[in-house]
Amino acid sequence: MSDDHDDSPIAARVRELEAVLEEKGLLDPTELDQVLEAFAHKASPANGFRVVARAWVDDGFRARLLQDANAALPELGLSMGGGLQVQRLHVVENTEDVHNVIVCTLCSCYPLSLLGPSPTWYKSPAYRSRVVSHPREVLEQFGLTLPGTTKIEVWDANAESRYMVPPRRPEGTDGLGEAELAALVTRNGLIGTAAV
Ligand code: FE
Repeated sequence: MSDDHDDSPIAARVRELEAVLEEKGLLDPTELDQVLEAFAHKASPANGFRVVARAWVDDGFRARLLQDANAALPELGLSMGGGLQVQRLHVVENTEDVHNVIVCTLCSCYPLSLLGPSPTWYKSPAYRSRVVSHPREVLEQFGLTLPGTTKIEVWDANAESRYMVPPRRPEGTDGLGEAELAALVTRNGLIGTAAV
């Protein structure tokens, strides 16, 4: 499948599994490479930045995105597709009263196609357990201090469901175009560990 040197036990198991599937003729290695390459190439947080900027300038898109994100993404030429299994994306918007943050407590489920590869800390046991039990403290460790009146909602991703957080549009950005707005958004903002 690939020429990189990942020596982790999981990578070794995946290579074994791949070899068995190829041997039995159940897997075409060329096809698999093509799917993975296309996916890895397209998976970038820039996709998430574009989605948020569009939602900030277009109320209709924002409403469709919140209601059915999988159906709204193709409007920007995007999808949740990784090929084999399509995950449902839930877009959970920050407001004055509620701040959202995403996690996968079981492993590291993440909306890869919109956010790119997940950061190492997202996969760490410390983040996965602490953000659920002490979300306010964890956000403070990221430098994000929220008013005591702001409610924090923690969303736990799984094999079927992924989450993305559109941050609140910063003040004083009325004159900015969509591309300039997209440039304000950060990967951590889409996870909920930064304000924008
Ligand atoms: Fe997971």
